[in-house]
Order: sequence, then C-alpha cells, then structure tokens
Amino acid sequence: MKKRLSLDEYYQGIVSQNRVVLGQAITLVESQHSEDASVAAALLDKILPHTGNALRIGITGVPGVGKSTFIETFGTYLTEASKKLAVLTIDPSSQLTQGSILGDKTRMESLSKNPRAFIRPSASGSVLGGVAYKTREAMLLCEASGFDVVLVETVGIGQSETAVKNMVDFFLLLMLAGAGDELQGIKKGIMEMADALVITKADGDNKTKASKAAAEYQHALHLFQPPASGWIPQVLTCSAFENTGIEKVWETIEQYADQTQTTGFWNTNRQQQNAVWFQECFQQLLTNDLSRFDGLQTTKENLEQQVINQKISSQQAARKLLNDYHNAIKSNQP
Ligand code: GDP
Repeated sequence: MKKRLSLDEYYQGIVSQNRVVLGQAITLVESQHSEDASVAAALLDKILPHTGNALRIGITGVPGVGKSTFIETFGTYLTEASKKLAVLTIDPSSQLTQGSILGDKTRMESLSKNPRAFIRPSASGSVLGGVAYKTREAMLLCEASGFDVVLVETVGIGQSETAVKNMVDFFLLLMLAGAGDELQGIKKGIMEMADALVITKADGDNKTKASKAAAEYQHALHLFQPPASGWIPQVLTCSAFENTGIEKVWETIEQYADQTQTTGFWNTNRQQQNAVWFQECFQQLLTNDLSRFDGLQTTKENLEQQVINQKISSQQAARKLLNDYHNAIKSNQP
C-alpha cells in the first residue's frame, strides 16, 4: 500500500500549492477506508480558513454538446488572463457500466499540460450522490491550494446536476442549436437551474441556427420562475473552434458575481449550501454508522420489502429501524 502522508504534510503541501500533494489529498478524501475518513475530516477542517476564494462554476450538457472542447478553450482563456483553474469532472456512467460517457479519449489535452490548470476526474465506483459528495471536498482542497476558478463538470443527464448546483456559485448549461430539448435529454429542471445557457458550435452553417436557438431559449427562460438570486439567466452563443463568444461567457459570470455580491445573495447562497452540506454529511455518517451492525442490514431489507408490499407504512418502518439501531448501539456498548 502507498505511504500515507501525515495530516501536517497534507496541509503544508496543499497551502504551498504542491500539485502532487493536492492530488494525494483528493485521493484521501475519496477513500472508502474509515481511518482515511478521520484524517480527511481533520484536513478539511484545517484548510477551511484557506477556502472560499475561488469562483465555483458548474458546467453541464449532454455528451457531444462540446463540453471538453469548451472547457479547453475557456480554460485556456482564463489561464491566459493569469487565472489558475481547477477542473473536476463527474462521470456517473463509470459507476454503472465501468465505461465512461466522458470518454476514454484524452479530453482537454492542451489544458492538461497547462501549468496553470489542474484536471481531476471524480472517483468512480460509489453511489451517485457519493461522487458529488467527494467532489465538493475536492473543490475545497483546490481552493485552499490557490485556484481562482473551480469548474465542476457533469454530463447533464443524471441526478448529479442538483448536487453540483448545490456546491457552485454559477451554473452553466451548454446546449446544441436545433437538436430539440427531448433529443438533448435536458430536463426542464436542469434548464431552470442554469444561470447561463450557452449554445455551442456557433460557427459555419450552424451560426444562424445558434442565434435563432438563443432567441428561443431566452424567451423560454422568461416563462420560468425568476430565480432567488435576482439574476436574469442569460443565453449566449459560442464557438470553441473559432474562439468566439468565450470572453462573453466569462464576462457574464463576472457580472453575476458582482451583482450577487452587491445584493448579498452570493454569501447567503454559500451559507445555505454549507448548511445543506452539514446535513448531508450527517446523513451520510448515520447511514455509515448503521451499516456497522450486520443484523440491521437484514432488518432494513426486510422492512423495505414490507414497505414495498404495503404491509407497513414507510413512517412506521423508519421508526422501527431507528429503534433497532438504538438497541444495537446499547447492546454494543461496553
Ligand atoms: P463533450 O462530449 O460534451 O465533451 O463534447 P466534445 O467537446 O467532445 O465535442 C463533441 C464534438 O463536437 C467533437 O467532435 C468536437 O470536435 C465537436 N465540437 C466541439 N466544439 C465545437 C465547436 O465549437 N464547433 C464545432 N463545429 N464543433 C465542435
């Protein structure tokens, strides 16, 4: 087994912006071992004062929409503007099929060699929520390591988008012109989460179609509930091939940051995200703790069957499981 670093070694490595240590620290927080979990929690606590300074951007869109090409161009633009960029990708398919929607091909080839950029795919093999769970921790580690912008990428077809929305400041949805919403597999809920919608591949023959689609989407967005941020979601077009519209995307994100920092939404949103995060962490700990007791797994499965067959209400089943859990703890005590 690989040698683990000490808590202080992780900490010093991260705050001194050591990429290798940052990578190792992300591996640590992704680890399923319980002894790693306590070091990870201590590390996250220790780096907390160094977090919060990055602009956190979620980016999503169906496979083929042009995410990796966009991130490559957008990321290069940012690094040329002296920004340090971390890209964290969540690919839920890898857990289901061991294959990957995001592709085995080398994605973001030039960005991956860029000294101002750091690219890290999320660990596969855990539950869907679990992947996003670790991504938030990875994001905090990147922030403590001095990255100005953290991009969290998802494929836009799973449940991970809501989890990502809950960890970022700005949510960007990439769309194709003229593909139809159903065809794109984009759910209305995901569109409603977007702070900006970007029509990709606005070049060549596609240019007019992209502008037309942009106007249609802008209209469609007006029909949604106005978001709590007070920000009016923008619809933009871009071509990663021709490097057009990329700067406008960044300007829009900066505008959003300015506006919501002035209104105070920026901070309240992050505070709420932290509160939700705390609740989720606690839920996760409870679930993990429950799994310590083998007998409870059987009880849980039995109760689940009874709930499915309507032999017992969900409410009553949950109370019974909690009761058995309390008893298991008591009988386990020295
Ligand atoms: P992802 O699956 O969302 O990451 O999409 P990719 O970035 O891999 O792009 C999917 C396809 O669209 C590839 O064949 C790209 O070459 C192409 N593509 C990406 N960006 C553009 C663009 O700006 N213009 C055009 N014409 N094609 C693009």
